[in-house]
Amino acid sequence: MSFQNNVKGSFHRAKEDIKKLQEDFMGLKQGQQMVAKILEDIQKDFKNFRVVTPKPVVTERVVVKTVKSPTAKKTYIAAKEGKKFHEKNCPYAKNIQPKNSVKFNTKDSALNKGYKACRCV
Ligand SMILES: [Zn+2]
Repeated sequence: MSFQNNVKGSFHRAKEDIKKLQEDFMGLKQGQQMVAKILEDIQKDFKNFRVVTPKPVVTERVVVKTVKSPTAKKTYIAAKEGKKFHEKNCPYAKNIQPKNSVKFNTKDSALNKGYKACRCV
């Protein structure tokens, strides 16, 4: 097959393809028109439809109780040489160097050691 024939051949095939595409496109267009018509009909039907608004559904409010878990640990911090103990977040507590600090899990244990509660506690 010569180069020319080859080109001619592919050109012909391309032409056929375009023709097919055109046909497909026409088909699509018809399909689109059909769909548009159907949609129109549906819309008409929909307008004739009496819209019944449903009663508002009363959903029971679920109250979720936040229960403080008794295992939630609080840490109190006191300076070894200090007189008061603090909550972890107290600025005084943050000033205590870790090596000088004493930690307590309960107020009572701090009180038992002779510390007094800071106003943050
Ligand atoms: Zn404090």
